[in-house]
Amino acid sequence: MQYTEIMVRYGELSTKGKNRRDFIGRLAGNVQKALRDYPDVKIHPKHDRLHIVLNGAPFKEIDQRLRLVFGIQTYSPSIRIPKTLPDIEQASLELMQATWKPGQTFKVNTKRSDHKFEYDTNQLNRLVGDYLFEHLDGLKAEMKHPDLVLRIEVRADAVYLSSELIKGAGGMPVGTAGKAMMMLSGGIDSPVASYLAMKRGVEIDMVHFFSPPYTTAKALAKAQELTGILAKYAGKINFIAVPFAEIQETIKEKLPEGYLMTIQRRMMLQLADRIRAMRGGLAIFNGESVGQVASQTLQSMAAINDVTTTPVIRPVATMDKTEIIRLAEEIGTFDLSIQPFEDCCTIFAPPRPKTKPRLEVARKLEAELDVEGLLQRAIDGIQITPIYPGQKFLDDQAQTDQNLL
Ligand code: ATP
Ligand code: MG
Repeated sequence: MQYTEIMVRYGELSTKGKNRRDFIGRLAGNVQKALRDYPDVKIHPKHDRLHIVLNGAPFKEIDQRLRLVFGIQTYSPSIRIPKTLPDIEQASLELMQATWKPGQTFKVNTKRSDHKFEYDTNQLNRLVGDYLFEHLDGLKAEMKHPDLVLRIEVRADAVYLSSELIKGAGGMPVGTAGKAMMMLSGGIDSPVASYLAMKRGVEIDMVHFFSPPYTTAKALAKAQELTGILAKYAGKINFIAVPFAEIQETIKEKLPEGYLMTIQRRMMLQLADRIRAMRGGLAIFNGESVGQVASQTLQSMAAINDVTTTPVIRPVATMDKTEIIRLAEEIGTFDLSIQPFEDCCTIFAPPRPKTKPRLEVARKLEAELDVEGLLQRAIDGIQITPIYPGQKFLDDQAQTDQNLL
């Protein structure tokens, strides 16, 4: 028995008209991208479902990719068979043998869009049910809450059978909500925030601040590799590396220690905002969580957020660290995030940052710097690289380190 197609049910599709067409079009495009290694697979977006015709591609592999596409509620692999009773009975038995486990209850559920077909839904339910009872020992029917539903759809072109209902990733297709900049560090929180942003349909560009020679090539490679893991949900993510050392050196040299972090963060946010404007983004996302560390108290956020009126969205703002970690494990970023390659913030972190910085003080101190020049030179130094699903950077890094030895 081999699955021939997959029936995909849309997620949160409460919208109508143009938004609905947008949703379906994006989803079809995103599924296409996710399955680009399988050129024979054909995707047919319809008003209420999306059909994927496998044309011999292995369902197990396609399944792994499909699980990561946002905007899918559920999907069912199915078998296309000729419209005769013996074919339906035979294929139903094979499908049950492959998916039914002894002890499970079941029911047959037939739908018919071809009303000229010689059997109606009740007749088919009964005929196929009887056939299965004859051939499977211990099979039990259950109408209300069966463990397994054998679905039979009689359509104009053929009959389709399915018995599995797989939960999709939910959310909205990436791109339907527009574009934003994601401030990605190498930590635990911002990759989780990235995942949650994409799940709401936001297309993200990663903005990463790095500070050579204070930070190593490995710290940069780690952020890029995290992006590779997250790109599995988006097909491709642009990674924007922003040199930040000059700004950090200047702040450290000129300003009092208590405000180092506040001013650094204000500069980061201003850079993220300029890059956003250059790239046509609508918002900025970050991985801040209220009260987690000194820079993430509400007073701190207020003193930092002061530099822009662009929406700054914090998907993990109200989550506990344990909840964030659980999600990080689920999406596969945790193990990489806890690798000890320190990024620019850890290295320039003052020992006693103010937990309640004052907005007026922050503004006044910042004004002592050549803000425009510092921001412009950082912008002039940005490097943009597209990163693809699963792309590795730390291995290459190890390789170059080896070669250098
Ligand atoms: P994370 O696990 O995301 O690093 P964190 O708890 O370590 O978070 P901070 O280091 O204070 O918190 O960073 C708060 C947020 O600021 C991050 O989630 C990220 O959005 C942004 N940020 C911090 N460092 C960088 C960086 N080097 N490049 C880009 N964004 C950064
Ligand atoms: Mg961090």
